[in-house]
Amino acid sequence: MQSSNEPSFRESVDIMFNRAVALMDLPPGLEEKIRVCNATYTVRFGVRLRGKIQTFTGYRSVHSEHMEPVKGGIRYSLGVNQNEVEALAALMTYKCSLVEAPFGGSKGGLCIDPREYDDHELELITRRFAYELIKRDMINPAQNVPAPDMGTGEREMAWIADQYKRMNTTDINGVACVTGKPTNAGGIQGRTEATGRGVQYALHAFFRDPQGLEKAGLSGKLKDKRIVVQGLGNVGYHAAKFLSEEDGCKITAIIERDGALHDEGGLDVQAVYDWIGKHGTITGYPNSKLEKDGAKLLELDCDILIPAALEGVINLSNADRIKAALIIEAANGPVTAGADEILRDKGCVIVPDMYANAGGVTVSYFEWVKNLSHIRFGRMQRRQEESRHQLVVDELERLSADSGIGWQLSPDFKEKYLRGAGELELVRSGLDDTMSTAYQSMADVWHGRDDVKDLRTAAYLVSITKVAASYRAKGL
Ligand code: NAD
Repeated sequence: MQSSNEPSFRESVDIMFNRAVALMDLPPGLEEKIRVCNATYTVRFGVRLRGKIQTFTGYRSVHSEHMEPVKGGIRYSLGVNQNEVEALAALMTYKCSLVEAPFGGSKGGLCIDPREYDDHELELITRRFAYELIKRDMINPAQNVPAPDMGTGEREMAWIADQYKRMNTTDINGVACVTGKPTNAGGIQGRTEATGRGVQYALHAFFRDPQGLEKAGLSGKLKDKRIVVQGLGNVGYHAAKFLSEEDGCKITAIIERDGALHDEGGLDVQAVYDWIGKHGTITGYPNSKLEKDGAKLLELDCDILIPAALEGVINLSNADRIKAALIIEAANGPVTAGADEILRDKGCVIVPDMYANAGGVTVSYFEWVKNLSHIRFGRMQRRQEESRHQLVVDELERLSADSGIGWQLSPDFKEKYLRGAGELELVRSGLDDTMSTAYQSMADVWHGRDDVKDLRTAAYLVSITKVAASYRAKGL
């Protein structure tokens, strides 16, 4: 529970922004121009469902148009409100700038619990919401490009893209009006996993930074690190799966909306995910005991805490009991401004949301570029790359035979080396490069300036500097 003297999500983002700009030398007035949200559109619309008209409230907020289109997800949740979408839109501006995705920041939301509606009803609601936004150019490949967020996924994005095409039949770039689509509807491979994959790459980057590790009081490799994850949705599931299956981490607790599972030996992420998929709840999962008060496990002794559900979960009421050495903010805004200060004083290192969950928008950027170029990544190069590699392999084998040395290339090496990169490999490579470059830019400021005590302030500094430069280039 958040206490009443906690700032709102929007205020929390502003407090963190202000802390960073206090260390910068921006021209008078520019600081406010960057901080404020340019516009928020509220729409109320009716859909006839179950024999009566039901009215829904939705939002699309545009934080900064220093680059266009603006970009940001659409969230379906009962918690959606103007304050929340504006905070999330602001974070999108800073996030895109930090990872050099050429977009301004935006966010949308619909105040709805999607679990209360069947597929057909959700399609009607989504198409009607999309219609309201499209007719005002708030969904448009050149102006405003949404993506999935909490409560939405590929399916909703496919409906939105189709609705746009119906209303703009001659727009050849229409499919680029939204990202996160299924691959058979103009999507890109690796988008669904992207945010969780980005969290994994962010941790790889952190574990390559000895100074960062020292500040967090961690040592060694990722393998066997004990991790607590909150929220086994799109982001949390992929992050937990990759970290446990590929990096050998132990997921010691999974916290969901209706309780939490705890096993110091490590939980089987896929089995828990499958159980939730089948039963709609974490309750009853046979292989470990259920803690009813799930949020309590945020305070578990662990190396890394990954809040991947919603904002404000680490706040003034629990911050001083958090024991994790490192928190990586897979969700947006999981740590309030007040908690951030308490944790910083305790020496806990926080990898901030604007960086940690930027994998989603990074791969969305790749998808948008793919849609505008109308060609799959790798289509022109793959075979050519494979033939050049074949030449090298043939030549090595010939030299080995001719010289009588008799070396053999292992079949595994040959198989890997000869395979040209397809779309998924290219997307993962682009994402890894983005996360690694962005981490370095933050770490340079974090370790290089005495007045910068934490990664979040460093992230804001890097990002605001770029936004300010782009305003200056526009003559503002
Ligand atoms: P999702 O809807 O797929 O998953 C959210 C999960 O959190 C669900 O499993 C839900 O049951 C669980 N949850 C909800 N309330 C909870 C509570 N009180 N305690 C514990 N668990 C709870 O959403 P998502 O797309 O994974 O998004 C999660 C977070 O990541 C959000 O903050 C979102 O803004 C952020 N994010 C998502 C993306 C993306 O690409 N999907 C990109 C960037 C950031």
